[in-house]
Amino acid sequence: MKYFIQTFGCQLNYADTEKISMIFLQSWIAKTNSYKEADIVILNTCSVRKKWEDKVLGMIREIHKFNKLNKTKIIVWVTGCMVKKTWVNPAYLHWENEKQKVKQIELLKSPDSIFNSDDILFTRKYSPDFVFRVEEISYVTKILSHILNKNIGNDMKFNEYLELEQLRENPASANIIIQTWCDNFCTFCIVPYTRGREVWRNTEDIVNEAKIAILNWAKEITLLGQNVNSYGKTTKSKLWDKEWLTWNNKNIQTPFRELLNKLDKIEWLDRIRFTSSNPHDMTCDILDAHFELDHTCNYLHFALQSGNDDVLKRMNRKHTVEDFREMVNYLRKKDPLFAISTDIIVWFPDETEEEFEDTCHVFEELEFDFAYIARYSERFWTYASNHLKNNVSDQEKARRWDILNTLLKKNIEKRSKLMIGREEDILITAKSKKHGIAWRTRNFKEVFVDYDEKINIWDMVKVKIAELDRWVLKGKNLS
Ligand code: SF4
Repeated sequence: MKYFIQTFGCQLNYADTEKISMIFLQSWIAKTNSYKEADIVILNTCSVRKKWEDKVLGMIREIHKFNKLNKTKIIVWVTGCMVKKTWVNPAYLHWENEKQKVKQIELLKSPDSIFNSDDILFTRKYSPDFVFRVEEISYVTKILSHILNKNIGNDMKFNEYLELEQLRENPASANIIIQTWCDNFCTFCIVPYTRGREVWRNTEDIVNEAKIAILNWAKEITLLGQNVNSYGKTTKSKLWDKEWLTWNNKNIQTPFRELLNKLDKIEWLDRIRFTSSNPHDMTCDILDAHFELDHTCNYLHFALQSGNDDVLKRMNRKHTVEDFREMVNYLRKKDPLFAISTDIIVWFPDETEEEFEDTCHVFEELEFDFAYIARYSERFWTYASNHLKNNVSDQEKARRWDILNTLLKKNIEKRSKLMIGREEDILITAKSKKHGIAWRTRNFKEVFVDYDEKINIWDMVKVKIAELDRWVLKGKNLS
């Protein structure tokens, strides 16, 4: 049997995909790069943007049509952020006799039944075979065995979601999930509703996983979670209640900083990265870790969302523009090349022209190295979709998006030019005769060098950055 997996969204979803791949490997199901050759298609979804949801629904439709035309029976499994509860399509509610039929239908009344298929995904003409919360990964072989009507694996082999190993796509750079889900309830965001409240892995397991990744040739680890800097919040809850809101309190030692300290001591590790960090949970000890530890890299992804405090309030973001500005300036004062990327939403409900201009000013002032700019789209279940009016035309959203995107391009150009002439170590994770060899500097700038047979993926290569070709930095191999 073969599976095909399509991943949407952030790095966390890519790490989940690696966990799913491990389940299939252990069940002797092979990977294919074309859904047309697959027996099972997994769509690991993101619901942050509506256009990604539309893409998922489009793929389900396409596979149904392919099945009909070619008389195939590709199973479609949807997981990730679009899924609130694990459910199996009612079409799989099979029974052998009348007695069993009654029993099975009775089962539907139980709130825990996996056949309680009232998910709106199943009411569509083209629906998936099952939807699955990736956190309930230890049930997956059971569901697949039921659908395929044969035993395809042993659930006992699979640990709980956070402990399940990933089948790493890229051994040089290991993604390690340390925390998942979210307590913040930003008014535009669906994550706390679909995925649930924050949970953390214990420190020992994370450090062990990092050590194993390094023994398997990883040189870089990236710690992943929706809010990595609130790692271990419950263990030091008093700290979170009182001093927490002042980011520049020098006396705080957070559980996340303690974790970074432990990881920093691991032998042969070269680089530690982490994402995403929330501005309202950011503390001085974590900002300082970038400069005080040997292996942390001078790059931070830090979501501003809007440059206006009133809009931030409507979004239920708990930071102010001034907090954010101070933290960025703190980092750039210590290292002017410190790279910062951010997320921005344009046209959050009722965003006035003045509020939008505030965002443009902050953009110009803070010179982000990169930004993900999204046009606001309503997400079902969220406060904003129930209480605020999405009262703007698509043209107007596009106009504001264009203005910010033009500013972003200028910033990228300006910040990238600062790298020209520098000698940097880049960790190679991509190599092709057509596009050359590429990966990132410590401050996360992507650099391309010419193809060279002698350079392998996982090598650390010294390059001199020679030019900026449109948005791409090009370097000369010095090693
Ligand atoms: S912090 Fe806000 S935007 Fe990020 S996952 Fe949590 S609720 Fe969503």
